[in-house]
Amino acid sequence: MRYRSTRGHADALDFAQVTLAGLAPDGGLYLPERWPRMSTDALRDLAGLSYAETAARVMAPFTEGVLSEDELLALATRAYAAFAHDAVTPLRQLGGREWLLELFHGATLAFKDVALQFLGLLFERFLAGSDRPLVVIGATSGDTGSAAIAALAGRSGVDVVMLHPLDRVSDVQRRQMTTVLSPNIHNVAIEGTFDDAQRIVKALFRSPELSDLRLSAVNSINWARLLPQIVYYVFAAVRLGAPERRVAFSVPTGNFGNVFAGYAAHAIGLPIERLIVATNANDIVHRALGRGDYSTGQVARTHAPSMDIQVSSNFERLLSQFAGVRDVGDAMAGFERNGTMRLPDGWVTEARALFASRRVDEVTAARAMAHALERSGELVDPHTAIGLAAAADIAPELPADVPIVTLATAHPAKFRDAVERATGHRPSLPARLAGLFDREERCVTLPASAVAVAAHVRSIAP
Ligand SMILES: *Cc1c(COP(=O)(O)O)cnc(C)c1O
Repeated sequence: MRYRSTRGHADALDFAQVTLAGLAPDGGLYLPERWPRMSTDALRDLAGLSYAETAARVMAPFTEGVLSEDELLALATRAYAAFAHDAVTPLRQLGGREWLLELFHGATLAFKDVALQFLGLLFERFLAGSDRPLVVIGATSGDTGSAAIAALAGRSGVDVVMLHPLDRVSDVQRRQMTTVLSPNIHNVAIEGTFDDAQRIVKALFRSPELSDLRLSAVNSINWARLLPQIVYYVFAAVRLGAPERRVAFSVPTGNFGNVFAGYAAHAIGLPIERLIVATNANDIVHRALGRGDYSTGQVARTHAPSMDIQVSSNFERLLSQFAGVRDVGDAMAGFERNGTMRLPDGWVTEARALFASRRVDEVTAARAMAHALERSGELVDPHTAIGLAAAADIAPELPADVPIVTLATAHPAKFRDAVERATGHRPSLPARLAGLFDREERCVTLPASAVAVAAHVRSIAP
């Protein structure tokens, strides 16, 4: 399988090359040159397979020529061995046709562990025998950073420079990053927003001062981040009766990575009735899917900070999928200049055949947390609550026999102040995080400037 840039001006690469490259040199994002298809029979054959077996089966066509299904199985078995649940991503019924897909049983309590534990092993494998270290540069609204650091701390041949917006991540999120003192981990607090941090990362990739370094990304701009996420859509749908039954998913959305993996699951043949894009007040994607208005505003701070994003990088991948956007590179260049883009009507119509979206405000999200506790005895985190609220709102539009699965993207203990405020219950930290508040922290603070951060990277990787 070969991969091409959304902007069409970069060489096609294989899976190992896109994993190490992250962003394409023309500024675009990599996508497989065609979607492999899983037949109805192939989907039926997944019934009864373990998570790791499902992962190997689903991913094999995407890694063809680089990793075999057996090699994928070995990697997936290692990546998910330490998850705190045997099913890796268990389903939990809330009542009626409403389900939660719990994606938070990994090391850092958010869904990002599912992809990053796997990506850590891919880096190790694809770098074996190379004497040039890889410098992984990332921007995080909290959860990517901690998951990447947990996956890469202490691995040889890799340095990690992780940027987070100063004072805009929860104390648990910050400590999960800054208390990892391995010499290859470098935390940077940026005096700005997540969008500033993400913009700086993009600039560093194009910076001539760093062009001699081997840079890579662990943000969801990296295709190898999205690929392992396709698996849990398939795993959950099969457990709920696919391919005979269609399933809907509600996805708390920020950078559009998780929900794009859902789109990919649909593209390879999973019968998905609807993908519900749930946003908070930072609703650029909701406006785009609703009325074709893709334009940035000010980032609003909410209790779901991992979704406090105004530029959703992976939306570029979706742009290339429907009719009407002839040249994604031109469209994105215009958007990067003006902060706004009007999507063609034909594009919006096609997108809306699969996607629905809702913007959920803070009061509604808090109510959804209280409601989940009252009705089902479940404490859910503020991101998951946004997914639940959107799902409840859209449910009447969906056929009555379609299960609606909300992706539980974080453990409630990761955002315990907000959960306590909404429900009166303070979730306790799972045992695997014991001692987090007693450990030493290490982090530098820098202005929101690509030049300043480039100089810092230079000082780490001379
Ligand atoms: C990252 C994150 C999101 C947003 O996911 P995207 O792939 O960026 O859309 C939602 N919830 C939580 C808890 C997250 O960590």
